[in-house]
This record gives sequence, C-alpha cells and structure tokens, in this order.
Amino acid sequence: MADEVKRTILITGGSRGIGRGICHAFAQTGSRIFFNYSSASEAATETETLVAEAGGQATGIQVNVASEKEVTEFVRQVLDETGRIDVLVNNAGITRDGLIVRMKEADWDDVLNINLKGTFNCIKAVTKTMMKQRAGRIINVSSVVGVSGNPGQANYVASKAGIIGLTKGVAKELASRGITANVVAPGYVDTDMTTSLSDKAKEMMISQIPLGRVGTAEDIAAAVVFLASDQAAYITGQVIQVNGGMYM
Ligand code: NAD
Repeated sequence: MADEVKRTILITGGSRGIGRGICHAFAQTGSRIFFNYSSASEAATETETLVAEAGGQATGIQVNVASEKEVTEFVRQVLDETGRIDVLVNNAGITRDGLIVRMKEADWDDVLNINLKGTFNCIKAVTKTMMKQRAGRIINVSSVVGVSGNPGQANYVASKAGIIGLTKGVAKELASRGITANVVAPGYVDTDMTTSLSDKAKEMMISQIPLGRVGTAEDIAAAVVFLASDQAAYITGQVIQVNGGMYM
C-alpha cells in the first residue's frame, strides 16, 4: 500500500466512542473514510464534521452489521464510489450484561449477532475485493475480557473471544493473497458503552490498571492505524492488547 494512493477505509460503528476516534485518526492519514452506525444520525454527522476538520473525508451510513444484506449493500455503495477497499475495521459492538442464570436468549443472540456475526459479515463482504487487489488489512476490535473473561458478560466475552478465533482463521486463509488480519483488544475506555458503570465500579476498575488511568479512544485508534500502516506489513493473526497493563 503505497502512501501516495488514497486508501479507502471502512469502519463499523463510527458514530461515537472508539469508532469515532478511529475515524479521526485515519483522517490524519489522508484516507477516504466510510463508516456505519446503528442509530442517531446526529452523532454520525458529528463524526463526519470532526474528520473534515482534520482534513479528511468521511461518509456515515446507517447499517445493521448483523444483516448480511445491509452489509453487502454498504460495501457495494463504497465500491461504486472508490472501486477499492484497503482497510476494514470491525469496531461495532454492544453489551447486554447479565448473570448466566438469568441471561435471556435474546440478549445472547443480539450480542453474538452484532459483535461476532457482524464481524464475519463485513469480512466476507470485502474479501473478494481485497483478494483481487492482492492487498488488504482487516482489524477487528475485541476486548480485554475476550482473553481474561469477566463475570456477568458471558455473551459479550464469548463474542469477543470468537472474534479472536475468527481473526486467526481468516489470517491463515488470506495471507497468501496479501491480506493481514489482526485484533486490537482494548481495556477499559470511557465511552457510552461504559457510562452506566457506577463511580465505585469505575474506581475499582482503575485500581486494577497498572498505568493508573482509563484508556481513551485515541489510545485504541493509534494501534489500529499502526496495524493498517506499511510498518505492520509482517504482522498477522495477532492480538494487540491496549489496556494499560490491566491484563498481561
Ligand atoms: P459505543 O457504544 O460508544 O459505540 C458503539 C458503536 O457501534 C456506535 O457507533 C453504534 O452506532 C455502533 N453499533 C452498535 N450496534 C451496531 C449495529 N448493529 N450495526 C452497526 N453499528 C452498530 O461503544 P465503544 O465503547 O466505542 O466500543 C467500540 C468497540 O470497542 C466495541 O466493539 C466494544 O465492544 C469494544 N470495546 C470497548 C471497550 C470500552 O471500555 N468502551 C472495551 C473493550 C472493547
């Protein structure tokens, strides 16, 4: 991927939080950015504006990543405009926490469908294009708990551990076509996803982080941008933990 080629970057869940941070970080690399989101188009417009202010161009489209049909249409729209896809970042994710004895079937299905099947849908939709290009970067956002486990999040932990397995499978399958696939596993980051935690739970969490602070969207985005860069060409099938030392 030569630097002078304007790369097309697809980011799922880019309307806020970590996904917005990833869009912003790629804006500074002069790429053409497309992101999707589930709801709240005002937030998506804010991401577009933030990227424009950083000198980039981003287009947000409402897509449910759990729907193969919607994802296929999203990728078709992108290809109509740019004819290429250089980087796919699977960041969209949700939580539906609860103890296993009380976890509803719908909470299991929603989390697995969006987090894991959504990642599969997006990878599948871009693979043919990346294979033809004989180049591509797939970066999947898992979580520290996908490696460490966490009580009250069996569905989420399963989806995030599944993303790691999916990434390794794809990394081996697509390496001969010049495509890499890696995982970024964030620790605790202050976003809408974690906002419902009580102050006490947050304090407790921070006390377990050797670097003594919560992560930022920028911390996570920096690892994603690195994995998409020429410098990361020989890295595939890996899990990069960005967690302040919370889990080693
Ligand atoms: P967030 O809730 O702030 O943002 C989630 C984004 O995903 C939004 O843009 C939302 O529109 C989008 N989204 C949700 N469902 C979707 C769907 N069905 N189709 C398309 N888009 C959808 O969350 P966040 O904290 O920014 O998390 C981003 C990713 O990082 C998630 O995969 C999450 O699991 C992971 N993560 C977050 C933390 C944390 O502490 N915040 C820690 C580890 C991992």
